[in-house]
Amino acid sequence: MGNKNVVRLIGILTITLVLFAAWLVLFTGANASTMTAVTPVSSQAPTLAPTLIPTPIPVFSGDEAFAHVMQQMSIGPRIAGTDESREVEQYILGTLDAFVWNTEVQVFIYQGVECHNLIAKSGDGESPILIGAHYDTRRFADHDQENPDLPVPGANDGASGVAVLLELARVVDLSALGSDLWLVFFDAEDNGHIDGWEFIAGSSYFADSMEVTPSQVLIVDMIGDADQQIYIDNNSDPVLSVSLWDIAARLGYGSHFIASPKYSMLDDHTPFAALGIPAVDIIDFDYPYWHTTQDTVDKISSDSLERVGRVLEEYLESGGEYTGGQ
Ligand SMILES: [Zn+2]
Repeated sequence: MGNKNVVRLIGILTITLVLFAAWLVLFTGANASTMTAVTPVSSQAPTLAPTLIPTPIPVFSGDEAFAHVMQQMSIGPRIAGTDESREVEQYILGTLDAFVWNTEVQVFIYQGVECHNLIAKSGDGESPILIGAHYDTRRFADHDQENPDLPVPGANDGASGVAVLLELARVVDLSALGSDLWLVFFDAEDNGHIDGWEFIAGSSYFADSMEVTPSQVLIVDMIGDADQQIYIDNNSDPVLSVSLWDIAARLGYGSHFIASPKYSMLDDHTPFAALGIPAVDIIDFDYPYWHTTQDTVDKISSDSLERVGRVLEEYLESGGEYTGGQ
């Protein structure tokens, strides 16, 4: 092989190598562009996925409600007109704001004390359903043998009803209800027969001053007892009571919602019943720690809160129709 031939061979080899290198670059380039073309499709796939996963429908959680009891108890007794009362007011309004409810504070003076009813409304329509609970606690534990001068902690008598309303505010499907819903947190319910106070001062003021009349009033009070037995109240609307206790039976709560009358309650439903509005008091009055210093969080259970909350949720989400004559 002559020098010329060697040079020619090197030339051919060089050209071959250059062509091969060019092909290689084109090939990997094409491959890379194929990759980038594929990548967006695979990265978009997860953002499409949620349409395939059903959105979970929130249902009333006893644990969530129980957390609201704990928060209230951490503040201390919530006696009308005190700093602790204002603190729990902020907690209630803040929670309702977070669940995107419109809130109002109704200020009134009772026995020289500034009291606040707290109201959340789903709308400004006529004939809303009102669900209420008192958030104040009693100044003195006058049923306590040892410490009748101490305040009532109010885990059940106060915090339990508020907790049910706040968890209901989170989960209730308003579109399933045939009307607006008001959640009302009454002040000054529980100082009756102390220094000339009456019971139910807050709900009485509310009922006397309302410009829109609720179609029904459902009160929850003292419903968190771990040993829960809720009888029908003699002073409640019988048709509304049967509707609610029927739902409880369907949900399997028949041993806790006992469908027979037992007590005759004076409670926050009373001023509304006096106006002829169908009103019911859902209350478990078999509570040995009533108006004692032993009304503490260890006496109540999330299961009890959940049963009451789910009965109310089911009632509202099945339309909330009052089936009696009006
Ligand atoms: Zn009480």
